[in-house]
Amino acid sequence: MEIRAHHLLCIPRFYGGGYTTEFGLNLKKICMQIRQHPNTSVKVIRECDTICEKCPYKRDGVCKKTPKLNKWILRQDDAVFNKLKIKPNSVHKAKDIFNHSMNTINSDNLSEICKGCVFLRNCIKVGVNNSFRKNLNSKK
Ligand code: SF4
Ligand code: SF4
Repeated sequence: MEIRAHHLLCIPRFYGGGYTTEFGLNLKKICMQIRQHPNTSVKVIRECDTICEKCPYKRDGVCKKTPKLNKWILRQDDAVFNKLKIKPNSVHKAKDIFNHSMNTINSDNLSEICKGCVFLRNCIKVGVNNSFRKNLNSKK
């Protein structure tokens, strides 16, 4: 599975919703795949992934909500690579990389890395979805 870097923050904080119903349902499906198969391999990328696939802002293969958005999103991905000390295109076990993300990036980091995201206030308020963390760590 390929996941773009900043989605390592979004997935553990997902409770539902999103830009459109189709987007939310697709994201839910991906979150469930990770919960059910925590040993699956995740390649962390710096481009559009399967979550972007159903996003109304993906055009011509890149994120284009506004002309500046793709650059902003790439900076956000880079901040996550730096914070987690991992390289683009590195491959990890889902369980390991999501635990690393949840243990390393707190609400203060989120305010800095996700500045400008429309969901920031909500992500800080609700925090990490404990049911995601539990499922992730329930299988050996
Ligand atoms: S806003 Fe951009 S990065 Fe986020 S899901 Fe949509 S296309 Fe992907
Ligand atoms: S604030 Fe936005 S980019 Fe950051 S984790 Fe939440 S949804 Fe993802």
